[in-house]
Amino acid sequence: MSLLLRLALCATTMHATSALAAEPQGNASAAAQQGEQQIARAGEQASVAGPAQYFTGSVRVDPVWPADQHINASGSLVTFEPGARSAWHTHPAGQRLVVTAGVGLTQQWGKSVQVIRPGDTVWCPPGVKHWHGAAPNTTMTHLAVTGTVDGKNVNWMEKVTDAQYNAR
Ligand code: MN
Repeated sequence: MSLLLRLALCATTMHATSALAAEPQGNASAAAQQGEQQIARAGEQASVAGPAQYFTGSVRVDPVWPADQHINASGSLVTFEPGARSAWHTHPAGQRLVVTAGVGLTQQWGKSVQVIRPGDTVWCPPGVKHWHGAAPNTTMTHLAVTGTVDGKNVNWMEKVTDAQYNAR
């Protein structure tokens, strides 16, 4: 290795080291500007029943976090009893679902019913009509991460009929 190359490598290493050393201070400074870490404790938000107007069967919604000035999407854990499901609906900013327990079903308008299982994630694009719920004999829980447009995150439509639900 030439002396020139050795010097060049050494300079590069020193530069990287000093950049790393400076990083913690930079992060601390940014954190001070943006506020402090916050921990919301389990049990602080009451579970609510999914309204019969928008759901078929027994559905429990556990709010996890609201859409706010930091991230414009809310998080909710939704648990469907066997056979329970949402009505048809769309989301103005889209929605991501992460199945956390049980076995569920979901369907996009005009397409076939899909089985979803723990670890599966579903992206529902903005304005795309769909429903989600439990399988006929099994509960299903999913985390729903739902974006907000002008304070609104869902447009509810008609109920999913038994014929639609059982079409699989
Ligand atoms: Mn949805």
